[in-house]
Amino acid sequence: MAQLEILTEGHPLLRQKALPVKKITKRLQKLAGDMEETMRAASGVGLAAPQVGVGLRLIVVDVGEGPIVIFNPEIVERDGQDIDVEGCLSIPGVNGYVERSAWVKVAGLDGKGRPLLVEGTDLLARALQHEIDHLDGILFTDKATSVVAVEEETVDESGVPRHT
Ligand code: ZN
Repeated sequence: MAQLEILTEGHPLLRQKALPVKKITKRLQKLAGDMEETMRAASGVGLAAPQVGVGLRLIVVDVGEGPIVIFNPEIVERDGQDIDVEGCLSIPGVNGYVERSAWVKVAGLDGKGRPLLVEGTDLLARALQHEIDHLDGILFTDKATSVVAVEEETVDESGVPRHT
């Protein structure tokens, strides 16, 4: 596996709608593995393919319970509201409060192309919504009610950085 370069705000790919994955090839499986490694190395809890320069609908998330790879993720159900602080690996040094659904159910395909359903609350719900927004060219700063510059990475009570 290899670490990939993470694109930062201003790169046009971060503003494009990513395309659905038609066939999960070996090359795309390797990409998913490289994205996992890149996310871990950057202490992130999620990463979307456009952030590493690939305009396809693929995300990886890991909120401390192991990595989840989802091709063509789609939010099929959501409930509740939750406002909390967020960051983004593509917008270093910036945090903001973003309102998200408190619970989501996401459908897609796993790393082997099998149908997958992921349900999550709290940080997992937030990370899933943040990453799926990336696939539609949306950045958290578009939705944040307040944005502040931070000198150090924000780490939550559990020690997990919230950068996605
Ligand atoms: Zn992000």
